[in-house]
Amino acid sequence: MKKEELLRNLPSVDRLTGHEKCREMIAVYGRGRVVDTARKLIDEARSKILKEKTAPGDTVKSVTDVKNVTDVRNVTDVRSVTEWLAVMAQTMAKESVPSLKRVVNCSGVVVHTNLGRAAMADAASEAAALCARSAVNIEYDIKSGTRGDRDSIVESLVTELTGAQAATVVNNNAAAVLLALNTLSDGRETIVSRGELIEIGGSFRLPEIMSKSGCVLKEVGTTNRTSLEDYAESVNENTSLILRAHTSNYRIIGFTSQPGLDELSSMARSRGVPLMYDLGSGTLIDLRRFGLPHEPTVQETIEQGVDVVTISCDKLLGGPQAGIIAGSKETIDKIKKNHLKRALRCDKMTFAALETTLRLYLNPDEAVSKIPTLRHLSKTIDQIRPIARKAAAFFREYLGSDATVTVVDDVSRAGSGSLPQIDIPTVSVAIEHGRMGPNELASWFRNMDRPIIGRVEDDLFRLDMRCIDDVEDFGLTK
Ligand SMILES: *Cc1c(COP(=O)(O)O)cnc(C)c1O
Repeated sequence: MKKEELLRNLPSVDRLTGHEKCREMIAVYGRGRVVDTARKLIDEARSKILKEKTAPGDTVKSVTDVKNVTDVRNVTDVRSVTEWLAVMAQTMAKESVPSLKRVVNCSGVVVHTNLGRAAMADAASEAAALCARSAVNIEYDIKSGTRGDRDSIVESLVTELTGAQAATVVNNNAAAVLLALNTLSDGRETIVSRGELIEIGGSFRLPEIMSKSGCVLKEVGTTNRTSLEDYAESVNENTSLILRAHTSNYRIIGFTSQPGLDELSSMARSRGVPLMYDLGSGTLIDLRRFGLPHEPTVQETIEQGVDVVTISCDKLLGGPQAGIIAGSKETIDKIKKNHLKRALRCDKMTFAALETTLRLYLNPDEAVSKIPTLRHLSKTIDQIRPIARKAAAFFREYLGSDATVTVVDDVSRAGSGSLPQIDIPTVSVAIEHGRMGPNELASWFRNMDRPIIGRVEDDLFRLDMRCIDDVEDFGLTK
């Protein structure tokens, strides 16, 4: 067909949008969007025809044997009006899928920052959804009918669970550190060990946060060794704080030393300087319960005399993105009065989810079984293997004879700076394919309607089954 003829065959926008079959589309998407889509598709088809070197007599692929919308849109064939309308409907349906969507975490990293960190308990997400839909008493004292305090929703739970005298909540742990430093050390010196001047993935750099908070960084010791004397000798009349930071995503091994937290806190107390600990992933449960290495709990830290502790709520705690600042009443009161806090506050959904999550910790066994992040992290390989076998059988059938699917021993990581560099034994499903290499396979799985995120290691594509509760999680039907 000649170019001119193809161009002549293009419908007008009016012809498409005025068609009776377009009425329903207009009701769903609105006239403006339907008109725009029709215009865009016609324009695309026109420029494609103009660009192509179609010689007379060329046969053009028929639209009917094309399966998906991207293929359809590449065809500059003569479409019937019904076909044009079908393409419009497909295009708009595809554009209406939210870009933030559920993915399946088979990455081997339990708390994966790029995958939204913690998976919350059902009760927590339900509480958040309920608050989102209605008015709530977020800052309203129901008894007196007067203004209330946001912090009061979770403060008593935090103090009960951690032994701290007081607590406040902000948007995340970076905000917690910023606010605490600004309150306690603006214009004055904060002492930090050189071994703890950390950068956490996603642009949290302690020295940068310190400078933004207005405090002056006073480095002490060396990268691998800092002694109690190093700290003590650096205290002067301009010192307002000693800061210890969990080194989260890296470990210093070999010839290393640092004073115990209890020693550091008694020295700080004797010099009249408050001690703050950026604990990062802050767990409320001793992970040794699950056969994992010890991570300092918030309770232990408070017990050892730290004045302020800051933690993330969406790491090991398994809650929403938020940061808790817990500590002595005197310090927390000062922090609450800082005007910067207003800029860092959390919304009602976060408070609802956080309160519900913390309530689960009143019975630690309940927390472990109901909070997915904790449940996944605490699984033994004996618990993971049966689901891996089930998943392997499923994928064998799903992928057909081109695929070789095996169950392999593997290692997971806690992620987000918790248990740095610790290999946690797990079981993965490894997949090899006759027509796709490992990276192609990884991409194929990522591009599913519900993306499945695996990883390639030793040239083998694998899906870690630690965070999978059931084959249904994949959202696939045979
Ligand atoms: C993760 C982490 C942070 C940052 O916390 P966010 O909740 O991501 O803002 C700060 N400090 C330490 C030690 C961390 O592990």
